[in-house]
Amino acid sequence: MTTDLAERLAALTLELLAVPSVTGAEDAIAGRVLARAAERGCEVRRHGNSVVAHRFGTGPAIGLFGHLDTVSPADDQPVGRRGDRILGCGASDMKAGLAVMLDLADGGPVAAGSWPVDLWMVFYDREEGPYENNGLRAILPLLPRLDLAVALEPTGNIVQAGCMGGLHAQVSFRGQRAHSARPWQGRNAIYGALGVLKRLAECSPREVRFAGLPFYEVMSATMAATANSRNVIPDSFVVNVNVRFAPGRTAAEAASELEALVAGEAEVTIVDTAPAGAVSVDQPLLAGWIHRHGLEVEPKQAWTDVAQLTAAGIPAVNFGPGDPAQAHQAGEGVAVSALVRCHELLSDLLFGTSSSPGREGSVQG
Ligand SMILES: [Zn+2]
Repeated sequence: MTTDLAERLAALTLELLAVPSVTGAEDAIAGRVLARAAERGCEVRRHGNSVVAHRFGTGPAIGLFGHLDTVSPADDQPVGRRGDRILGCGASDMKAGLAVMLDLADGGPVAAGSWPVDLWMVFYDREEGPYENNGLRAILPLLPRLDLAVALEPTGNIVQAGCMGGLHAQVSFRGQRAHSARPWQGRNAIYGALGVLKRLAECSPREVRFAGLPFYEVMSATMAATANSRNVIPDSFVVNVNVRFAPGRTAAEAASELEALVAGEAEVTIVDTAPAGAVSVDQPLLAGWIHRHGLEVEPKQAWTDVAQLTAAGIPAVNFGPGDPAQAHQAGEGVAVSALVRCHELLSDLLFGTSSSPGREGSVQG
């Protein structure tokens, strides 16, 4: 039984890996996922390159969420199976999660017509690109009120709660242009940044505890540029600063903290913000499931779409089969055993295939 499941999940992951889906080119994978979800009895709808698959049930409404896109593959990135590992661009982040979602869509041990949950599966595009293009933004308003959401981002089958918010700011230093043979006639904008850069370099991670979990706030210079010839003293120097802030704090608060650090020495323009995600592990279905299986709970020290879900009032966590350390790697892979473990645990969350106290309508398997 478990061997069948392992082979099924491995085959499905390999099938999805064989359809390239770099951000912005998700047409083919959306078509494939839609066909596979329809075959498993879901009511399916396509919105652009995102797919919503629904299985009607009388219990709580639970959503499973997975992005269809991947980063660009590395040169000659291996794709295929090596023993217990499935390799390919997006294997961990997050075609393994998509395969688990699709396989759960046929309900496994649940008899037709007796679904204990109203299951919504959302496969969306453009997650790996900028937040303003994220495909989930257009889909969320189309969904019914969900009681719980799980984003199957790579977490190594650990429950990762909340998520860090983030912002990018362009910090622009002004100087005065001159010939670099006579620098005293100008004012070098790069040197004007030294004070701010030093203060940024001295920023150590700040622990912020939220719902008992430690998150680490950080601020880093990630890019810097002038736009002059190399024999010119630059009159402008722009540093990109990336700020990551903990749940419970807003982008506006993080922006004022950056403004305070810059202290008027440059102009700060916020170019992109993404909110932090709330920690919602006390949602009763989720709390019972975590307790039954003794699952580990960790803070998510990165941004995920849990932020959008919790901002929409949906309790949500990250939980998926992929290995977070494998995400975006040149030899990215995922263990078949991790796919099986994720499937078994989510099957219990959705269908109550192990004893589940306090769940109405759950099916004992
Ligand atoms: Zn991802």
